[in-house]
Amino acid sequence: MKFILSLILIAGSFGHAATLKSLNGEKFPIKLPKLEYVTDSLAIAIDKETMEIHHGKHHKAYVDNANKVMPKEKKSVLEILKTVSQYPAAVKNNVGGHWNHAFFWKLLTPDTKNQMMPERLQKEIESAFGSVDAFKAEIEKQGASRFGSGWVWVIRNAEKKLEITATEYQDNPLMDTATVKGIPVLGIDVWEHAYYLKYQNKRADYLKGIWSVFNWKQVNDFDIEALKM
Ligand code: MN
Repeated sequence: MKFILSLILIAGSFGHAATLKSLNGEKFPIKLPKLEYVTDSLAIAIDKETMEIHHGKHHKAYVDNANKVMPKEKKSVLEILKTVSQYPAAVKNNVGGHWNHAFFWKLLTPDTKNQMMPERLQKEIESAFGSVDAFKAEIEKQGASRFGSGWVWVIRNAEKKLEITATEYQDNPLMDTATVKGIPVLGIDVWEHAYYLKYQNKRADYLKGIWSVFNWKQVNDFDIEALKM
């Protein structure tokens, strides 16, 4: 029985491979993705209650509202985000909110193997930012200084260079409204709902803490994919 269950679990895990293509290609009606880890497994950095409310209430609300407001014709989420200026603000807020969170959950992991930064990515980061520490420090700085609610991102920009940027609300760099555009390879939610229960007003501590559950293997996979897009 256990054997059959693990076969089902293995088969299931292939069903939601974490690719930009799968996130970008979603169409109406969108669904709340399942988390690939249990909600207390990241507690060293993000507590169980925050994970449950953030995924089960906040993200679910973006999905439910996105399905109410997004165009029903067969446009992909990426096509909608790239032309989001043509839609009401509710489309930007909720389709953006869904994409951002679906992307973010993939970047967290309790699995120590996935937390190890692949050498390829480390070299890319060192060549662009000098060192991994300098890179993390710049993300923390832009995330902590983003006024109000928003996100901090690492993107591959139009020149295919790694660049750090921040956006407000549920905006992201895929949107035609973004000041700095590109393909996200890393994103961190800096809304208060992402950290307030454990860190209260100390957003900088949340940003430092999150590295201990960060999925660098996934960042590397997103980056390799982004370079081909
Ligand atoms: Mn959030």
